Amino acid sequence: MLEIRNLHVQIEDKKILNGLTLTVNDGEVAAIMGPNGSGKSTLSYVIAGKEDYEVLDGEVLLDGRNLLEMDPNERAAAGVFLAFQYPLEIPGVATMSFLKAALNSQRKARGEDELSTPELMKRVRGAAERLQIPQDMLKRALNVGFSGGEKKRMEILQMALLEPKFCILDETDSGLDIDALKIVSDGVNALRGDKRSFLVITHYQRLLNYIVPDTVHVMANGRVVKSGGKELALELEANGYADYRTQAA
Ligand code: ADP
Ligand code: MG
Ligand code: MG
Repeated sequence: MLEIRNLHVQIEDKKILNGLTLTVNDGEVAAIMGPNGSGKSTLSYVIAGKEDYEVLDGEVLLDGRNLLEMDPNERAAAGVFLAFQYPLEIPGVATMSFLKAALNSQRKARGEDELSTPELMKRVRGAAERLQIPQDMLKRALNVGFSGGEKKRMEILQMALLEPKFCILDETDSGLDIDALKIVSDGVNALRGDKRSFLVITHYQRLLNYIVPDTVHVMANGRVVKSGGKELALELEANGYADYRTQAA
């Protein structure tokens, strides 16, 4: 599904990704682990199409389509979704209105009719209930004053509604207590399927007890330096990243 070849990226003259190569197959949950500053969030932004990043070389293909030629909206319409490490607060936009706009613009891009307001509210309320998000939060401005865990749950709510093909979770586990971690993981696991793939970025093995990955990739200095199965996460938890840092350097 996702094919990244020899990706080199810089921002403000600082080179961050240095020849990153990664393949994620249909239905696969791939975990990306790595030390702070190794370029994990940069990778997620480059896939989703955030501006400011200069791609110097390499390819990013989603089902054979060149994502780098598409603007962020086109990528979203193609099925890319990024759950942010630091979700933005949007004062003045009620959460329900935001979700309605996001869902309907995606339906439009796919050539589908807008949902009626009652149908939309039914879907949002159902998804919120499954993620144990209180209904009154949907009336509040998006993410404004939400706790860290509430913001992360809201990202997963958006993901559940948009039903993207390729989901990127950037440190969704950070700031979650153990109950919230289980709720969020259940929400993600419910979306797993043959036609949907995930890139799960995390520092910690703990999340991977709940969202069990098919593959684990270690990033250091802007590239993937080791790939393996889920046991690789346990090895990292035991030994840390020191070996990979020196290897990458
Ligand atoms: P990770 O998510 O793995 O912690 P990031 O992708 O956030 O790593 O950052 C990788 C490196 O790029 C870090 O050294 C960070 O300071 C640097 N970086 C990220 N964004 C910018 C920016 N806008 N300007 C300059 N350096 C940046
Ligand atoms: Mg980080
Ligand atoms: Mg990061």
